[in-house]
This record gives sequence, structure tokens and C-alpha cells, in this order.
Amino acid sequence: MREILEKLNQGIKEIRDLENLKRIKAEYLGKRGYITKLLKNISTLPAEEKKNYGEMINSLKKEAEKIFSQKNEGIRKEIENLSLEREKLDISLPGRRYAKGSLHPLNIVLREIEGIFEGLNFSIEEGPEIEYELYNFDMLNMPKEHPARDMHDTFYIDEDILLRTHTSPVQIRVLREKVPPLMFISPGKVYRRDADVSHSPMFHQVEGMIVDRKVSFSHLKGIMTVFLREFFGEETRLRFRPSYFPFTEPSAEVDIQCIICRGDGCRLCSYTGFLEILGCGVVHPNVFKAAGYDPKIWKGLAFGMGVERMAMLKYGINDIRLLFENDYRFLKIFA
Ligand SMILES: [Zn+2]
Repeated sequence: MREILEKLNQGIKEIRDLENLKRIKAEYLGKRGYITKLLKNISTLPAEEKKNYGEMINSLKKEAEKIFSQKNEGIRKEIENLSLEREKLDISLPGRRYAKGSLHPLNIVLREIEGIFEGLNFSIEEGPEIEYELYNFDMLNMPKEHPARDMHDTFYIDEDILLRTHTSPVQIRVLREKVPPLMFISPGKVYRRDADVSHSPMFHQVEGMIVDRKVSFSHLKGIMTVFLREFFGEETRLRFRPSYFPFTEPSAEVDIQCIICRGDGCRLCSYTGFLEILGCGVVHPNVFKAAGYDPKIWKGLAFGMGVERMAMLKYGINDIRLLFENDYRFLKIFA
């Protein structure tokens, strides 16, 4: 008897999991277990020994059951302690830092441009990036075969639909939908088949328009001066050069004094002392006619700029591709 229990205790001593304990329990107390078999032997004994033997085996069985249930409880506790140990919180450990995101430099510049024009009472208008050829070219005084179309290397979707090459079609949409006087800018993505250090097939423009009965080029000059000095600094010197755009007449290109050499001449400005920054002009009568306005009554001013160029000049970025590669090392400079 004692020996059996001792052997049992010995056998379960090293057991640390419930699965193995169950297996050993079956070896002793299962249907074909050792103790169960002993109990079955009772039938072979003479009648006078049966009672004693039976009591003995039953108490052995109870003892064994007790040992197993204690061991079972012990293993459970051990497992529980182990998992508590594992889940223990050390509240003195420093927390994990999460990197904070920041605005993309193009969005910073876009917001700044929008903010300046909103301060001048311009509203913000948007239009679709997939546009009718009619709105992108024809109604902007660029009919088919117009040579200016060559400057816009266009992604066509089908014969009449394209990815807009500038945000000017928004002007047509606003002219058709709203009642003048109007004063708005249209920021957004535009597309051209062009890619090198200073061109990306997708880039951003902000164009603006003012429509009223009495506006002149001097208003435009004033607004461009206020805007560019706000953006590049109070001291910024400007230069207006005559230029050509199909949708404005007269047209001008606006240069700012080179931000690197301050006019002395350097590589960035090709030793001219000035940098081209935006185009502007008085809205061409044909654009008004196409939108259903009488050009004898309504006068318009328009301007447009590339957001990437503004950002590159503002932050001294020399490769446009940096703005689109999403290199974390570059982006975190602007955090
Ligand atoms: Zn320069």
C-alpha cells in the first residue's frame, strides 16, 4: 500500500502540466488502471478476506484521488502565477514614443497660398481632374490646332476627355455656374507628360480670377505684389514682363528677385538676378464670349502659378522628385 502511494508520488513529482498528470492518473485510476485492477482481484479472494481487502483498496483509491486532486490544484496555481508574472506591469518603464506626422511641404505651401488669398477675400473653387477637352482648351481660346496646345503635353482619356493640364477649366466652370462679380482661386492637381528634375507628370497649380465691371491690369499688379511679398518676404522685388497666354491679353510673366543671390546673379537664376514665378493677364474677350459673358460689360483678371515651384524656391529644394518620393528623412525636416 505505502509502496504504491510512494511510487505514485514519485511519478508525479516532476510533472508540470495537466495533460501528463491526466495520463498518469489514468494509469492508476482509469478503467484499466493499476488500483482498479487491484479492486477487481477481490473476486478471487476467500470470503473472509474480501471485506478487509476491499476496505484497504478503497482507502488506497481515496488516498490516490486526493494526491491527484492536490497535484492538479498545484499545477493550476503554478500556471496562473506564471501568466500573472508574464503580464506584470512595470509602471516605471518609459512609454513607447509614437512618431507624430506632419504636413507635406506641398500642403504647407498650398495652405499658405490659400490663406493669403482668403485674407484678400478670394473664395476657393475646385473642379474635376478628369475634364472635357472643351473646358481645358477650346473655351480658353485654344481651339484645335492652336499652337499653344503643344506646350501642354496632354494625357487623353478619349477623343474629348483628358486629364486637365491646368486648373483654368475651373474658371470656365465657375463663370458658367456663378453670378459675377467673382473673386476666387482654384488650387488642384494637374497632369502633363513631362518628367525631369523640374517637371513631374502630376503637379499642383493655383490659378485665380477676378471678374467685375471695372478692373484693370493695375489691380492685378497690386494683388500680385501683395501676394508675393507676403509669401517670399516684405523686401521681395518684382518684375513684370510682357508675355503670351492664349486666354489673357495683355499677359505678363512675374519674376521675383532671386532668393539666393538677391539680384547679383547666380546659377539658380541663370545669372539674371530674377526668377520666373507666375503668369497673369487680363482675361481674353474670347474666354468671356465662350462662357456667355459680354466682354464689353465684364472685365477679368487671371493669374496662375505652380505650387511645386513655389515650394522649391521657398525651401531651396533643387529636385522636384523629392516632393513625391515620400522619403521620411526629407519629410521630417518639415515637421
Ligand atoms: Zn540668383
